[in-house]
Order: sequence, then structure tokens, then C-alpha cells
Amino acid sequence: MILPIVGYGSAILRQVSEPVSEDYPGLKQLIDDMFETMYAANGVGLAAPQIDLPIRMFVIDASPFKETYPDGEGFKKVFINPEILEFKGEIWADFQEGCLSLPDIHQDVARPSIVVVKYLDENFVEYTEELDGIRARVFQHEYDHLEGKVFTDRLSPLRRTLLKRKLQDISAGKIYTDYKMKRRNIKRK
Ligand code: ZN
Repeated sequence: MILPIVGYGSAILRQVSEPVSEDYPGLKQLIDDMFETMYAANGVGLAAPQIDLPIRMFVIDASPFKETYPDGEGFKKVFINPEILEFKGEIWADFQEGCLSLPDIHQDVARPSIVVVKYLDENFVEYTEELDGIRARVFQHEYDHLEGKVFTDRLSPLRRTLLKRKLQDISAGKIYTDYKMKRRNIKRK
């Protein structure tokens, strides 16, 4: 089932999400729905708060990046109760991010190029991995959602000021998307 995506300006995107328990009702179905919702919107990642659930879980499929970033291929996973154990490497500053909750905004975001992460998969098996390249990038973007952050928070004050009107428009629902959004006043194309 395709779920409506929550837009910038909604309180849930500013909330710190809660851990997911193994007996979370309907978890398998929810994971399927999150992948389906992400694919329908042509996204490469989707965090639970973006579908109005304040729980620490996100899905990623970075395969669409494979032309530019070959390491995106096969990076398809669900991450439950993820943690970032360590930031490593240089700062990767010139990668343009976008977000399904912030339609039509694309900006270069600076993030560490390598992260050591810990997470559970859909069977609650724990993994610790070092991610780099596009994998580290998408993971950090999605992880921010669980902490109540969005990528525009990481821009310089000047860039944020330049985006103010666009962000206000999204908050007010004055935006068109070709995927289903939660806010009643956001119209589909
Ligand atoms: Zn996002």
C-alpha cells in the first residue's frame, strides 16, 4: 500500500523518534509499504516519520544512483533502531541532496564521507558496518529524520535564508508533487 508522505512544516518531522520493538504490530507489512511508497515517489530513502510514524526505522534503495555512484547498486535494506557509532573520513561537501518531504529543493550538503553504523534488519539481527560513498550519504540523510532533522538544517544561514520562501510554501501546502502527500492542501500534479 502506498502511504501519503508528510511534508516540511509538519511537527512529526521535528520529533525525535522512539525505538522499534520486535513485537511492533504489522512491522513486516509496514516495511513492504515503506518500500512501495518510496519507489512510487522515485525516492532512494524513506524514514518512518515521513509517513507519520515516530519510530526509528528507515528503508533505503540506492540503486538509482548506480550510474554515477556504482556502490549504490545493491544497497537495498531496512534499518531498524540504527545508530551512528563513528564519523570518519573527509567531509564530502558537494553532493546535492533532495527529500520527498521537501519537494523541489535540491542543495549541496556537507557530511562526513564515512560512518560506522549499527542497526537491526527486519528479523532483528544486529549488524555493525562501515559505510562510505553514497551509502554513508543516504544513511546519514535518513538517520537525521529519526532525530527530527531535515537536510536544509545543515545548510549555511545564508542558503537557508534564500530558501525561506520555498520552505514556507511547502509548509503552507503551496506545492505540487506527482506523489501522494499527507497534507490535505498539497495537490498532486
Ligand atoms: Zn529526507
